[in-house]
Amino acid sequence: MEKILFRHIDVSDQYKIDTYIRNGGYRALPEALKEHTPDELIELVKKSNLRGRGGAGFPAGLKWSFVPKDSPQPRFLLCNADEGEPGTFKDRALIENDPHQLLEGIIIASYAIGAHRAFIYIRGEFAFGAKRLQEAIRECYQKGYLGNNILGSGFDLDVDVYRGGGAYICGEETSLLESIEGKRGTPRLKPPFPASVGLYKNPTVINNVETLSNISYIVLNGAEWFANIGMPKSTGTKIFSLSGHVKCPGNYELPMGVTLRELIFEHGGGIKDDRQLKAVIPGGVSTPILTANLLDVKMDFESLYEAGSLLGSGATIVMDESTCMVKVAYRISKFFEHESCGKCVPCREGTRWIRQIMQRIKNGKGREEDLDLLRDICANIAGNTVCPLGDAAVVPITSTMEKFRDEYEYHIRHKRCMVDLGKRFV
Ligand code: SF4
Repeated sequence: MEKILFRHIDVSDQYKIDTYIRNGGYRALPEALKEHTPDELIELVKKSNLRGRGGAGFPAGLKWSFVPKDSPQPRFLLCNADEGEPGTFKDRALIENDPHQLLEGIIIASYAIGAHRAFIYIRGEFAFGAKRLQEAIRECYQKGYLGNNILGSGFDLDVDVYRGGGAYICGEETSLLESIEGKRGTPRLKPPFPASVGLYKNPTVINNVETLSNISYIVLNGAEWFANIGMPKSTGTKIFSLSGHVKCPGNYELPMGVTLRELIFEHGGGIKDDRQLKAVIPGGVSTPILTANLLDVKMDFESLYEAGSLLGSGATIVMDESTCMVKVAYRISKFFEHESCGKCVPCREGTRWIRQIMQRIKNGKGREEDLDLLRDICANIAGNTVCPLGDAAVVPITSTMEKFRDEYEYHIRHKRCMVDLGKRFV
């Protein structure tokens, strides 16, 4: 299938506005502004069944429709470019290689929800991406795609780039709002949801980079065209960030519903050094691990849920037979301990306890009662925290304990790893 978002990924100067226009860019914008009302655009995106690509998979058009139409308050569009889920590197590729594709989507989305101010909240470490975006925004003002009376339509929009503070939690939408407002990035309680009480308490829509990058193609080609790609409930393409023990890691844009087997063996070239596949994390480290017997699972929201995992951000981390699952779970637990914002007790204390227990099991100092203790701590975190980070921190532990319990037990009983017997604990 022809790529959509990565169609021009290999064009070296696609980031420049003239190249983008030469390759068909900024054709959807005048069509959206002159031939569609905002309500028609919302309906179009609803019909396409475009779902959020940041991880949650919420329908984008439905999210837009939640913005109150009769509110006298200003509205905002926020693009969440705080890509921080370990294993995910697709938004960065979109921003650095084709920023105008994203900007065209932002302008159309802002028009649809009635926003005259949009922000791109970009991960602080993405200095190059931020520079590319700022340059692209400058080009847009010069061409009349941003500013007052865009293309003579009467619609005004200003877009700013906001560089994040470097915390994973700022990718959570309400933390992102706090951060833009100049406060410490910690989650707000929901409800109210940002669509009604968002940035500076005004109605705000927050969409992911990949989600917004799809918008211009839906306007140009129609909702039906988009809905016919992929699966009935998971439409369009998805960019999978493939990493780990594969021969050809990288970003692959494929129709939703591609099998894990095709992704790893056809596009990723198979397992490195031709070893055996052991496990896969299909959607970033907060999604449950899959074992090698599930290679034929389809990579879409519904199929992965039925298989006991989640599509998440599409970050597919492949592990071969040489991987110690206890070490994997320990490494992820360290990440979540570090990234817990500390606002609520179960997450703040629980992630630290989990990391401590995982560390001693990994190091051959685990106790017989540790597995029950881990299960108990996880049960007390899940569902009891302000934001989803608490649940996310639990998943790698519970899923590896469920699927690879023998490895945990071996570590505890034999004080060594059953996978890599040659190595001593340090
Ligand atoms: Fe902060 Fe963790 Fe509570 Fe989320 S779950 S608010 S990250 S302490």
